[in-house]
Amino acid sequence: MVWRKGRVPRLISRVRAEAVDVLQVNVGYRCNLECRHCHVNAGPQRREAMPAEVMEQCVKVFSAPSIDTLDITGGSPELHPRLRWLLDRCAPLGRRLVVRTNGVILLEKGYETFIDLYARNHVAVVLSLPHMEPGVTERQRGHGRPLLPLYRRRGKFLPGRSGVGQA
Ligand code: SF4
Repeated sequence: MVWRKGRVPRLISRVRAEAVDVLQVNVGYRCNLECRHCHVNAGPQRREAMPAEVMEQCVKVFSAPSIDTLDITGGSPELHPRLRWLLDRCAPLGRRLVVRTNGVILLEKGYETFIDLYARNHVAVVLSLPHMEPGVTERQRGHGRPLLPLYRRRGKFLPGRSGVGQA
């Protein structure tokens, strides 16, 4: 397509949303990692977190019958103090729940229980995988950060086959 001034607004004016299928929420910028490639500059020093009242509004919006997926991202969503609350509220609706996580945090002290929480609520866990080479991943995420900790914890099976997560 050839770019011409004024063409994009005309195209946009013809786009009509018929329904909302996915509600994606970013619950905050706090993260246990500080990746060089992070597009939201998340990290341990970030304090921005979705306020409780906004999260409650998200639950109300997600209750609309037309929305079939709640897709939660961050930062590291596990660092939001009300992520458990959010999942516990939304799971009974019987819709698809997705949490995007770096995976590393699931082995950090105090956060191991999220694996069971995700399993209990049938959450689809999307693990970020910066690179297939451990050395490249370490350079991006910081030295000593494992490539995919769930591989190590669950043995030789891929996360998808273990039923815990998917890359
Ligand atoms: S794990 Fe994801 S959210 Fe956290 S710093 Fe890295 S890219 Fe950003």
